[in-house]
Amino acid sequence: MPMADECVHESCAVFGIYGHPEAANLTYLGLYALQHRGQESAGIAASDGKRVHSEIGMGRVADIFDEDRLSKLCGHLAIGHNRYSTAGQSRISNAQPFLVDHSRGIIALGHNGNLTNAARLQKELEDGGSIFRSTTDSEVILHLIARSTEEDADLAIADALNRLEGAFTLTMMTSDLLIGVRDPHGFRPLVLGKIDQPNGETAWVLASETCALDLIEADFEREILPGEMVVIDAQGPRSMHPFPVTPPKQCIFEFIYFARPDSHIFGHDVYSVRRELGVQLARENPVEADMVIPVPDSGLAAATGYAAESGLPMEIGLVRNHYVGRTFIEPQNSIRHFGVKVKLNPMPSFLKGRRVVVVDDSIVRGTTSRKIVEMIRHAGATEVHMRISSPPIISPCYFGIDMPTHEELIASSQPVEEIRAHMLADSLEYLSLDGLLKCVAPGKDEYCTSCFTGKYPIPVQFKDSQLSLFREIRTTEHRA
Ligand code: 5GP
Ligand code: MG
Repeated sequence: MPMADECVHESCAVFGIYGHPEAANLTYLGLYALQHRGQESAGIAASDGKRVHSEIGMGRVADIFDEDRLSKLCGHLAIGHNRYSTAGQSRISNAQPFLVDHSRGIIALGHNGNLTNAARLQKELEDGGSIFRSTTDSEVILHLIARSTEEDADLAIADALNRLEGAFTLTMMTSDLLIGVRDPHGFRPLVLGKIDQPNGETAWVLASETCALDLIEADFEREILPGEMVVIDAQGPRSMHPFPVTPPKQCIFEFIYFARPDSHIFGHDVYSVRRELGVQLARENPVEADMVIPVPDSGLAAATGYAAESGLPMEIGLVRNHYVGRTFIEPQNSIRHFGVKVKLNPMPSFLKGRRVVVVDDSIVRGTTSRKIVEMIRHAGATEVHMRISSPPIISPCYFGIDMPTHEELIASSQPVEEIRAHMLADSLEYLSLDGLLKCVAPGKDEYCTSCFTGKYPIPVQFKDSQLSLFREIRTTEHRA
């Protein structure tokens, strides 16, 4: 079993566009639509066919790019990247796209996913003289490409990618090619779109999710398949299948939490799946109550399904402050549990004297749910029943979702009844794995469910202590 002794989690957004005079501006918009996939840093690289230029920065897309910076990104070809806040170390050298200039010219790369053999590859490359400037696994890919003996850029890339294990959805560019790749398991999504322009020419777009296509008014063409590499130039997209055929293992957690509900990925509308999870949850775990309360925003779609199936009214019992960001600093310990309160506020007039079913998408550490139960009870609810639209998360994710060590995952060591007691809920029920898989059928075997089962599609062996090492910058802030 390969031993991965370093783990840098990368749940990010990628974007790319070929053949549009405003490539960088549309990339900016695409990244804006994909902001939910990463808020730590963002970057755009653009090419006019000869020169590649990139602009990157820390923070959110709208804070990094202004007209001045965008105007420096000239040309018809661009890629962009949003980086998630918890991966590796929080510093500008880890921000993407990464650029390297080597014998075949410049290559820029944006990566979503997590390589499970990065440490081994990095050691091998360093022993061979490569010098790394970041602490992310994504840079390994560029070094491998630079070292390939293949002449053509696309063949060199295909050659390099065959050395990788784990999750990688990539957008890459040379000065005159746009390339999109999904690893053979297809853990993370990637879609292809196009824009028919008034001059009769077609621009081609790659994006993590279709919500980015919607914003720039690109037509959805199709998803890039697991194991597919598309190479786009003036002739349009051309497909390559550089990897050995492997059973797809798409990340089921994209449906539960990560993707935007208005996106279409892995052959489904995310909202439809998420709502169906709530329907299934209500079938499996009904409860006598007065109303359903979603935990905004992540529990909204499932709560809608739960309410519809149970016949209970749904009410907005918790209101979310949308302006809470990483910069929020908890002043003192003077107000306890300030963290969740700053994000969510209950509505006592609706909750007082009522028996409520609270629907959320998942429990990771258990701290959020505990505080939510406490807040709702404090607001006067007589009974609080938690319903979770996914099974208990018992194992960390090594393929790009930010799920911490076994130790930090509450369900990894505690049975449901103990978790219920910990959060002081009147009842706590999760969706079953079978119920979850029903909602994505057909093709239920095509998903990675390792966070719920501990069974990984690729042999991985990280030590929890090593996982923690890379989480030191993690704050308690969670996307709501
Ligand atoms: P916890 O149980 O750790 O206190 O938090 C549960 C909440 O975290 C849920 O409302 C869920 O929407 C959110 N969540 C689920 N997965 C992730 C993730 O990968 N990253 C972050 N930041 N939040 C998540
Ligand atoms: Mg949430």
